[in-house]
Amino acid sequence: MSKDGATLALRGRLLWFVGDPHEIGEAAHRYVEDGLLVIENGLIRAAGEAKELLPTLPGGAAITDHRPHLIMPGFIDAHIHMPQTQVVASYGAQLMEWLNKYTFVEEQKLAQQGHAQKLSAFLLDELLASGTTTAAVYCSVHKGSAEAFFVESHRRNTRMIAGKVMMDRNAPPALTDTAESGYADSKDLIGRWHGKGRQLYAITPRFAVTSTPEQMAASQRLVEEHPDCFVQTHINENRAEIAFARELYPDAADYAGIYEDYGLLGKKSLLGHCIHMTKREWRAFAAHGAVAVFCPTSNLFLGSGLFDWDRARREGVKVAVATDIGGGTSYSMLRTMAEAYKILQLQGQSLSAFEALHAITLGNTVALGLDHLIGSFEPGREADIVVLDPAATRAMAHRLETVRDLAEEFFVLVTLGDERNVAATYVAGELVSACSTN
Ligand SMILES: [Zn+2]
Repeated sequence: MSKDGATLALRGRLLWFVGDPHEIGEAAHRYVEDGLLVIENGLIRAAGEAKELLPTLPGGAAITDHRPHLIMPGFIDAHIHMPQTQVVASYGAQLMEWLNKYTFVEEQKLAQQGHAQKLSAFLLDELLASGTTTAAVYCSVHKGSAEAFFVESHRRNTRMIAGKVMMDRNAPPALTDTAESGYADSKDLIGRWHGKGRQLYAITPRFAVTSTPEQMAASQRLVEEHPDCFVQTHINENRAEIAFARELYPDAADYAGIYEDYGLLGKKSLLGHCIHMTKREWRAFAAHGAVAVFCPTSNLFLGSGLFDWDRARREGVKVAVATDIGGGTSYSMLRTMAEAYKILQLQGQSLSAFEALHAITLGNTVALGLDHLIGSFEPGREADIVVLDPAATRAMAHRLETVRDLAEEFFVLVTLGDERNVAATYVAGELVSACSTN
């Protein structure tokens, strides 16, 4: 345990990133076969060769030997819905029908505080068991749902980004706020939770379809008053959704133009999906520094379409990756990247194992502007860590007999891996989740 002043060291195979492998190739990652990760007061103090660092440990330092497992920074999920953990795997609908038939029905239950607490606790535990230590989380329209989530996250000391959804039209009456109450509730939550411990707030107008112009203006006021908060919303996921949004905002240049008109397209704006983007929209994202959030399992499950990562790169748009539970079908960022690979393959694009592992660690923290805090093993970063057993399943152990190098081994991990490969998860240096077989 890493109590104040105490030193903890984890021994194993270390892998982390210092740059983007798509841009600088092999120079982007650091790998140490027999490595030691030294943690002090919940922060990374050093990462390197065990034989060099072991003699530097103070007397009484606790060493946990994870060999031959792989030790990486905890995974980051840039878009997930807490109220949808019991919506996952709902049959046979695309976005708008799926929202009305399944999601909006389940989300009404979050009016009960006990239910919001139950789903929040479940989500956090499931994320940690999947090796995910930070996520950008949509709560429900109920103020109490965000309160419940922050309470649970603060208790676990996890670095989470979350917000109360704002929606004041095109949803059941039990699930709508008003421009004024959405503003007031969000403002109060920001005051209570943004920057408290490791918690961060995201101003969360669900999407243009469910917010009136008055509510969009209220969101803009929140952003202007709290420029250090995130903004999270959805865009260009589904053709019917796009047509509806355009109909509701006929004066906007396009869907991105709606958010742009209300000052919601900025460096801290995380926009889920970005599948059906026009040239002008890509340019607007690049100009404002907004983040496109790629949600592979959700895009396939809801039949939404194929995200064009190469195009985003060419346009200079930052990309983050995410599960989008409950449109998505797995809590695992490894599984998410396996589906990302297939989506890119369908478009003649590729994704190496190093690119995938970078995306779910440093890549996501750079996109979120949190790379000074988390996402790597640079000294001073918060010690959120996942320990992976690449041979956790029979099929993986069998396949690993024939791999010839790290790139091949890690590609097996990304393609066949999921939460079963997570041997342990640490939050700020504390062990919070450990697989019983490891
Ligand atoms: Zn979503």
